[in-house]
Amino acid sequence: MSTPSADATTGIPPAVSEETRVFWDAAAEGRLVIERCTGCGAHGFPPRGICRACRGRAMEPAEITGPGTVYSYTVNYQRWLPDLEVPYAVVLVEFGQCPGVRVTGRLRGCPVEAVRVGMGVEIGFEPGPGGFAIPSFVAVGS
Ligand SMILES: [Zn+2]
Repeated sequence: MSTPSADATTGIPPAVSEETRVFWDAAAEGRLVIERCTGCGAHGFPPRGICRACRGRAMEPAEITGPGTVYSYTVNYQRWLPDLEVPYAVVLVEFGQCPGVRVTGRLRGCPVEAVRVGMGVEIGFEPGPGGFAIPSFVAVGS
């Protein structure tokens, strides 16, 4: 049995679809990309190729820049896999520039006991399973 690691490489790689490929390609470059409807301007995440507001199918990639705000969070204490280091926090982050869009990711930069709803986070990524870069927000101003 190997030693648990603090990184995020343990786990199941994402299943990439036609709609989500742009997200994962951008993530590999350290950019957070969601969808924007060219018809009504609504943003959507995860990418689905259809607007959640008007049901239009003319969607384009839209990059989000930080900071974001923690809308909700959970702390995982369960070692689901032998190499998984616990505890770690998973946050649901919203962005003022994109109402209704919330992105899930791990949180770095503060102890799990310090995570709070409303705290500011910067967008970040870290190596994930299967060579993918996964969202890994960074606590700021805490
Ligand atoms: Zn729309």
